[in-house]
Amino acid sequence: MTESFAGFVEDVRLIDHHVHGAYGADGGEERFQNSLNEGNSELLAEPSAAYESQLAFALRRWCAEIIDLPRHVTAELYWRRRSELGELEISRRMTRAAGVSHWLIDTGFKTGAMLDPRGMAEIAGATVHEIVRLETLAETLIQSDQDPGGYVDAFTGLLASHAPIVVGAKSVLAYRAGFNHDLSRPPADRDVAESAKLWRQRIESGGAVRLDDPTLIGFGLHCAISLGLPLQLHVGFGDRELDLDRANPLLLLDFLRSVEASKVPVLLLHCYPFEREAGYLAQAFDNVYLDVGLAVNHLGVRSRSLIARSFELAPFTKILYSSDAIGPAELHYLGARLWRNAITAVFGRWIDDDEWSEADARRVVELVARDNARRVYGLP
Ligand SMILES: [Zn+2]
Repeated sequence: MTESFAGFVEDVRLIDHHVHGAYGADGGEERFQNSLNEGNSELLAEPSAAYESQLAFALRRWCAEIIDLPRHVTAELYWRRRSELGELEISRRMTRAAGVSHWLIDTGFKTGAMLDPRGMAEIAGATVHEIVRLETLAETLIQSDQDPGGYVDAFTGLLASHAPIVVGAKSVLAYRAGFNHDLSRPPADRDVAESAKLWRQRIESGGAVRLDDPTLIGFGLHCAISLGLPLQLHVGFGDRELDLDRANPLLLLDFLRSVEASKVPVLLLHCYPFEREAGYLAQAFDNVYLDVGLAVNHLGVRSRSLIARSFELAPFTKILYSSDAIGPAELHYLGARLWRNAITAVFGRWIDDDEWSEADARRVVELVARDNARRVYGLP
């Protein structure tokens, strides 16, 4: 082992198993500021307040160098330089600096401002795979001229047509209905069709398209399971639309104990502040995995303790890397940067204290950085 442990962590190529597109078009400073706040789903009353946060401090510390500025540069100078370069150049520099070989992109949250998978592959010079979002697919279907009475076959066919081109399916059940529902059995076809009819009626009388019916969402989960797709579930931290207390993964216990759910890998995304609950579930169920993405960026330097906690109960074969970045590509870079910093500090300490051997530490780095994701998603 000639290379230092820090050098080894620096060089390991990552698979980012849950991420979204980076911005592909220029926008104003308020868009940038708002994208640094996850919890508030409204526009910030005082956008500059987003700069007074762990995320923004970490961004000024670590991203400044990538755009030729001194570390800890002021937010004002950072924004000025960023505007000079333009969003596409920011996206190019940041995604390439992340050291990510594969991005697994959830394309379900669509805005015209984001690069699509092909655009991401080009700008990042990396491989991109797609994850299909079940609720988005359902929302496309219900707005088509498909008879809602035939929803079961239509949705099954639509998802099956995506299966060959995606590596997994994602659900935002946590956002839409919460985990406190009976998800253990595939819903009866009759109930699904009935719910679809009601949903269509609601839309036709001016209601929102947003799917929040637990029967239809549960049906989507079971469709993905029967196609053998790895199932990603948003868990914990998100914006205030979500009832955080109903996004606790312990509410998934009945579902996870069911025969159906045991058939595919179930990936608990983000998990903060329930990373310990998620770690327990990863130990208790052969097919449960977790990551602590999203919160890593938002916690900045404090992500070290979050990442350390994610290495408590969960077997090391069950932990994956993700950034959950979306929008400004600083987030795509920072997720990787903070992960490398935390792993070097936390594992490095365990090596120094002779609690872990360096050979073991290196093996775990490779598992979490890429090998676990490659195995779970069957990546070439
Ligand atoms: Zn996400």
